[in-house]
Amino acid sequence: MNKLRIDDLDLRGKTVLMRVDFNVPQHDDGTVRDDTRIRAALKSINYVREQGGKLVLMSHLGRPGDPDKAANEAERAAIEKRNATLKMDPVADALRNLVGGNVMKLDACTGAEVEAAVAALQPGDIILLENTRFYKGEKKNDPKFAAQLAKLGDVYVSDAFGTVHRAHASTEGVTRHMKQSAAGFLVAREMAYFGQVLNNPERPLVALLGGSKVSDKITVIENLLNLVDTLMIGGAMLFTFLKAKGLEIGDSNLDEPGVDVAHKIMEMAEEKAVKLLLPVDVVVADAFDNNANIQTVKVSAIPAGWRGLDIGAESINMFCDEIKSARTVVWNGPVGVFEFENFAKGTRAIAETLAGSDVISIIGGGDTAAAVTQFGLADKMSHVSTGGGASLEMLEGKTLPGLAALTDKPGDGCCCCQGKDQ
Ligand code: AMP
Repeated sequence: MNKLRIDDLDLRGKTVLMRVDFNVPQHDDGTVRDDTRIRAALKSINYVREQGGKLVLMSHLGRPGDPDKAANEAERAAIEKRNATLKMDPVADALRNLVGGNVMKLDACTGAEVEAAVAALQPGDIILLENTRFYKGEKKNDPKFAAQLAKLGDVYVSDAFGTVHRAHASTEGVTRHMKQSAAGFLVAREMAYFGQVLNNPERPLVALLGGSKVSDKITVIENLLNLVDTLMIGGAMLFTFLKAKGLEIGDSNLDEPGVDVAHKIMEMAEEKAVKLLLPVDVVVADAFDNNANIQTVKVSAIPAGWRGLDIGAESINMFCDEIKSARTVVWNGPVGVFEFENFAKGTRAIAETLAGSDVISIIGGGDTAAAVTQFGLADKMSHVSTGGGASLEMLEGKTLPGLAALTDKPGDGCCCCQGKDQ
């Protein structure tokens, strides 16, 4: 990787302004329901402390409303009440439990009091700022807000992969005012894995795409067709491909605008000599329900009134054989409705095959990460991405603003933009 990394920095006595992704799932009362995202940043947090640095952490949490947009007083009060549950205090409590140390939570992100608290930090101390999205300047990437944030650190570290695809003040604007901006360990790992897929994959390289809509993933598919040896399609989007091939799909999900896209993708795959594997059989149900009647049929024999909710046994074997003969597999999107046990078999079999083989397995964030976690197999994968949107944009070949903004290592270009911006 050719961006500065946290371990390239001299941190002794320095104040590190670190963007983390503490946008954690919460209980109704605001307390933290799942601290996975906080744990994910611990390696970088602990490293700074071990090196004798001081930490100022910042993150967004949820989607605060704007009280100024309320139509009346009652609406304003409701927005303010909801926003109160998005304060970072419970996150600070969860962090305190994990680091076993003194975490000072501040009620603001900018201003004289914040600056004074930061100036008083001792090596090893941690400050957690208030929710960055309480400030309108955050999402607008307001240069003034970014400059105020930048005053709080000697160096900047990005360890929030889940937000690097957004050009916000705390992810991008702030770097314009810092001498050194580096990737934390979490972001560095994401960049290394996706950078390898995009620039120098071990082949054969197989991509497995599932999930709901073809139109949502068109740019990813187009870019992957330039990179992969094999593309396998599952999930609801399969049925749009089957429709494009002139098959009857019963009540299966159809992404109408995606039919033309599917045609184009099949043509492109042929032109680029990419092996396009579509399932040959599917599990169909007479309702979208775990307890519906089910049967396995050939893709050419989906009965009217039935809908495909998983790939069939023959297709599972075909996909798993392809995975076993691959060196690298990138997987984004479950191949069936894995949330229902009766339609999770395909997704589970793929996850188990990846877990049991020595293939380099890179799992996109979001639902695919949720699926492998649900099966207890996340730690058997080479890499499970922490950013659903960001990982998709990486695979689309886009320049991610929060990564492009990091300082290049002397003499190096930028790996995250695939050479485009060099
Ligand atoms: P996405 O957010 O586009 O990755 O889509 C993920 C969702 O697609 C999951 O919630 C799956 O349950 C759903 N899904 C996968 N296969 C199917 C299918 N055959 N029919 C309907 N939904 C599906």
